[in-house]
Amino acid sequence: MKKNLDIQLQALLEKEQLRQRQGINLIASENYASQEVMNVSGSVLCNKYVEGYPGLRYYSGCGVYDQIEQLAIDRFKSIFKADHVNVQPHSGSQANAAVYLALLQPGDTILSMDLAAGGHLSHGHKVNWTHQFYNIVSYGVDPISYQINYDQIEALAIACKPKLIIAGASAYSRIIDFEKFAQIADKVGALFLADIAHLAGLIAVGLHPSPVGFADVITMTTHKTFQGPRGGVIMCKQQFAQKIDKMLMPGMQGGALMNHVAAKAVAALQVSQPEFLLYQKQVIKNAQVAAQECMKLGYRVLTGGTDNHMFLIDVQSIGLNGRQVEEILESVDIFVNRNAIAFDRQPPLSPSGIRIGTAAITTCRAQESDMITIIHLIDRAIKNCNQPQVLDSIKEEVHAFMAQLFS
Ligand SMILES: *Cc1c(COP(=O)(O)O)cnc(C)c1O
Repeated sequence: MKKNLDIQLQALLEKEQLRQRQGINLIASENYASQEVMNVSGSVLCNKYVEGYPGLRYYSGCGVYDQIEQLAIDRFKSIFKADHVNVQPHSGSQANAAVYLALLQPGDTILSMDLAAGGHLSHGHKVNWTHQFYNIVSYGVDPISYQINYDQIEALAIACKPKLIIAGASAYSRIIDFEKFAQIADKVGALFLADIAHLAGLIAVGLHPSPVGFADVITMTTHKTFQGPRGGVIMCKQQFAQKIDKMLMPGMQGGALMNHVAAKAVAALQVSQPEFLLYQKQVIKNAQVAAQECMKLGYRVLTGGTDNHMFLIDVQSIGLNGRQVEEILESVDIFVNRNAIAFDRQPPLSPSGIRIGTAAITTCRAQESDMITIIHLIDRAIKNCNQPQVLDSIKEEVHAFMAQLFS
């Protein structure tokens, strides 16, 4: 095949590379994978069909892949001290789907966090397939503290007798007490799934309490705070291993994406290095400093701060909605996402919140003082949103800021 055949796509790739290099990325679910992770996910490992699990494959020529997958499994086991690991899910949502289909019957009750309060689509939101298959009961947060109220969850669990309780969120900035969730699940005879999609990197290095030992099953993504390739992982107690593995393959998928499985192994090795602990500590410090600075400037930060890599701002107080703020900031190459907040009265497409995360910008080596600079850039952009010339000059400052960060 001719080299560099697709010049159209090449141009788009270059554009995207520039966006990633020049822009400030504060999207809480994103990160930058290392060059080594990207090299492996775009390697010769793309070319092979690999179905089944190590030692039991449905194609010939899988010897190397047995070793790669086993390496990935062993590394995840050692990081999280998990009994059993499946590294094949293509995504976090698919990991969750495999768990539900393996352990529940259609019509069973799931007790999970409401999307509007910080939960995830795949936990049973109206527009998700899970809503059609299962009876979803949602818990929210406390109307005053905006934190999880374990008494409310216990009362709901006693009332609805769920088959499965899910802990885990996409937009929640405080410690999640997995032990308490396990006690509630125990009390009502429910299974307990901890979805640590966002928290995996923090949990891996002990900066957030681990659900291992408390949860029956744990699902995660490898591309958020874990800083690896896009993908999912399932960890579980031995007694659920066979059911879950079988449901994922052959139940739900054919060939695993072995390039991604290998890249997950690389990411797991990186997570085991001492530098990764320092990185995650900086992620949390950066989020805390940024949240403080927002509050100093008069923004309403939900829960008054953060224990992890992200926080939510209620932008109603400045007379805008989350969509407007997202668009203003995008116009100066600062990327955040609009987010519903608990008790939101605005529609989902223009909710009242924005979510700010520090995993990606900390990968670009941002420190606390950089976070203060960034928050002031955001504040100025918002306050000058009707002044195109000011916005243009802020955009130039954003590019200069990123150039200095990488220098
Ligand atoms: C991101 C996320 C997922 C799903 O991840 P995808 O890979 O996008 O499917 C699942 N659960 C939670 C809590 C998440 O934040």
